[in-house]
Amino acid sequence: MERTLVLLKPDAVQRDLVGEIISRLERKGLKIVGLKLMSLSTELLDEHYSHLVGRPFYPEVRSFMQRTPVVALCLEGVECVDAVRQLAGITKSREAAPGTIRGEFAMSVQANLIHCSDSLETALVEVPRFFKSEELFEYEDVLGGYLYNSS
Ligand code: UDP
Repeated sequence: MERTLVLLKPDAVQRDLVGEIISRLERKGLKIVGLKLMSLSTELLDEHYSHLVGRPFYPEVRSFMQRTPVVALCLEGVECVDAVRQLAGITKSREAAPGTIRGEFAMSVQANLIHCSDSLETALVEVPRFFKSEELFEYEDVLGGYLYNSS
């Protein structure tokens, strides 16, 4: 079982797409184990996007991410890091595959609705960056074998 971090960005909040996106993640079979609205500090964003901090477009990305609170989710499931990346689609939304969240609802590179961890290694760092341990929950999965059966 893996856990992954998802952020629904200010464009998702302003465009009233939070419910639609969470609904897609739920219907896929991903289990919500953490969920909250939060404002992102400059310090947190610079850490989260440390691979982009020196890039010319980064100041704009940072100010975009601070325009409204974002919705943070921690999702759980078998190989869920990759499953959520597939659901999100590629960074450049206007070229993202039809059926993906970015492919269906976005046109921009910057305003691309959703962040999701890009590898299990990253998820292991990102989940505790955004969630305290007491904000993450373990509870029974009543669907049992219906969701995964034996694999
Ligand atoms: N971004 C941007 N311009 C770029 C590359 C990235 O505005 O040329 C923004 C975009 O919002 C993207 C975020 O920075 O989602 C993080 O970039 P990354 O390469 O990590 O893409 P992601 O994993 O979000 O698809």
